[in-house]
Amino acid sequence: MDLFARLDAYDYGEVHFKRDKATGLMAIVAIHDTRLGPALGGCRFIHYDTEQDALVDALRLARGMTYKAALAGLPHGGGKSVLLRPPQHFDRVALFRAFGKFVDDLRGHYITAEDSGTGLEDMDVLRSVTRWVTGVDPSHGGSGDPSPFTALGVRRGIEACVGKRLARSSLAGVHVAVQGVGHVGYHLCKELHDEGATLTVADVDPLKAERAQREFGAQVVALDAIFDVDCDVFAPCALGSPLNDDTIPRLKARIVAGAANNQLALPRHGDDLHARGILYAPDYAINAGGLINVAQEVVGYDEAKSRAKTLKIYDTILEILDRSEKLNAPTYKVADMLVEERLASARPR
Ligand code: NAD
Repeated sequence: MDLFARLDAYDYGEVHFKRDKATGLMAIVAIHDTRLGPALGGCRFIHYDTEQDALVDALRLARGMTYKAALAGLPHGGGKSVLLRPPQHFDRVALFRAFGKFVDDLRGHYITAEDSGTGLEDMDVLRSVTRWVTGVDPSHGGSGDPSPFTALGVRRGIEACVGKRLARSSLAGVHVAVQGVGHVGYHLCKELHDEGATLTVADVDPLKAERAQREFGAQVVALDAIFDVDCDVFAPCALGSPLNDDTIPRLKARIVAGAANNQLALPRHGDDLHARGILYAPDYAINAGGLINVAQEVVGYDEAKSRAKTLKIYDTILEILDRSEKLNAPTYKVADMLVEERLASARPR
């Protein structure tokens, strides 16, 4: 693998590797940008076919964290860590302790958190060896589950879009189709239902869809039918890239605003939405509530402050929409532009 060319492609300066034979640890910490503050981002522990795949995932994700933190106005840069699964039997606690020491050696330059394949218990192990960890159990002063904050931010983003595109000052009677009612999707349905919105949902897991039907009066449709729903807002809250050549022409919604990461299959799909007059709330702008909540833990967790900062996602989305209108530019490009401006104007730390 052409390592340094790969780093250049993702606009990188810093990647750390750690091997500890005794515990089986093989870890990568990618630090994309620290102009706004120490890098913050989760720790992944999932299967990768190759070491190269693991590295590329870390590079890609850490870069995304820089953008998300900058747009949310957080004093953090972007980082991400990846642990490769040891091929032989391993002691999970020992492995995470060794990883914690690695994080500690970086002396706060990188702050870790939960991500796919890691959980509260792992964060508690890390906490026993380093202070540079967030997402620990609320009983230890941590911020706990980020999903309700992510959902709150998405609801605020939807409100901004609905005001702009539909000229409506509330969500009462607004029809939202939610794809995926897992952790965030469920809380989003609750937020929207409380504001008087009408819901249609789809989920791979029928029990989750039924729960939304039971608790919020949501109509349940088949997985693929969610793209055809005659609604005001399409809210992707599942996995994968829901906005692509097949799905975009089918959308009847005039707004796309949801929690899922990487919603655009390719950047050009953001241009496609713009050309069709569909307002797209860029994913990393609207789904930052969970990150805002975790970042609050770095300076001493305070739920009220997290909530107040998450509510401001409304202003961020509105700023993007206003600029997009003024420049006649797709919203995803405007969001990137705002980030570049913020990074360029950061004072050296
Ligand atoms: P989750 O796994 O709890 O929920 C995802 C749900 O989507 C599950 O119920 C799953 O059954 C369903 N699903 C999967 N494929 C589907 C499909 N094709 N159609 C319909 N439903 C489908 O995950 P989550 O934590 O709720 O996160 C949802 C999305 O939001 C992910 O893209 C995640 O990266 C993103 N996100 C989450 C957070 C957070 O705070 N959890 C923060 C930012 C972004």
